[in-house]
Amino acid sequence: MYAQGRTIKGKIVTNAKGGQSFHNYKVAFDIVIMRNGKPVWNTTGEDGKLWKKVGEIGESCGLEWAGRWQKFKEYAHFQYTKGLTLADFQAGKTI
Ligand SMILES: [Zn+2]
Repeated sequence: MYAQGRTIKGKIVTNAKGGQSFHNYKVAFDIVIMRNGKPVWNTTGEDGKLWKKVGEIGESCGLEWAGRWQKFKEYAHFQYTKGLTLADFQAGKTI
């Protein structure tokens, strides 16, 4: 995934190399909104408002929503790290 948009064709979809994502430690997941059986990838306009509502639902459950991140906004991504950093997980800590 890291190579996509860098050394192979496509759009950059992640800033994480293998082992450098919270997904690797089973504390993150991605979702997509489905409308009439089709995924809604658009995050602008009315679709953007819908993504914001979904993000707020996740946050109300105590999850961190990457739709609020400034550096690499990722509407589909949620995580729960209990305050631990990636370095903590890489060092073997768990939640
Ligand atoms: Zn993700």
